Amino acid sequence: LAGGVILLLAVLEKAYRFAYRDELTQVPSRRALAEALETLRGQYAVAMVDIDHFKAINDAYGHAVGDQVLRKVAAHVAGVGGGGKAFRYGGEEFAVLFPGRTRREVVPHLQSMRNAVHDDPFILRHWTRPSKKPSKPPKPRKTTTETIKVTVSVGVAESGGAFDGPHEVIKAADAALYRAKEAGRNCLVTG
Ligand code: GH3
Ligand code: MG
Ligand code: MG
Repeated sequence: LAGGVILLLAVLEKAYRFAYRDELTQVPSRRALAEALETLRGQYAVAMVDIDHFKAINDAYGHAVGDQVLRKVAAHVAGVGGGGKAFRYGGEEFAVLFPGRTRREVVPHLQSMRNAVHDDPFILRHWTRPSKKPSKPPKPRKTTTETIKVTVSVGVAESGGAFDGPHEVIKAADAALYRAKEAGRNCLVTG
């Protein structure tokens, strides 16, 4: 019986992780966000973060490289200061909740995160392979590197005012994000 219970717990734990943690980026999922939103009360700030021109990165380097870039950006977003908790909202977009914080308090932390992404380009290494088997022992393999510039745009909003609940605050942050894109990307706009 004990074995059965342990097995059941292991299965449940795996199911929980599957639902609440995004497999690719290892940040909490959209479902985890939905539950976290229910617990928000009073003062809080919300940020939406979206990778700039991500489709172009996929198109130029392939989906697998895009996935690696996404993981790296996710780590930066998850590492944001100021008490922010990051979630993968979908695709190449993240939501960050700051319970108890004002928009003014969180902006410097989000700007630092945005700068950290900008200052951490993705380095792609290509190995050049000989076309036929060399007769002599091969020299150390030649590598060429390519640097992929990655930036994010950020929209921020806070509770209060005319907003009725976290979903409306998220919508306002999303509208601010849209304005950040229009303003030329790699920037932050407050809504
Ligand atoms: P913008 O600066 O306006 O945000 O441009 P964008 O290209 O980032 O935005 P768009 O919405 O046109 O494209 C998003 C792309 O993100 C398209 C989609 O294929 C890619 N994408 C979404 N999820 C994933 C993923 O998990 N892995 C990879 N590699 N690509 C993804
Ligand atoms: Mg994008
Ligand atoms: Mg997007």
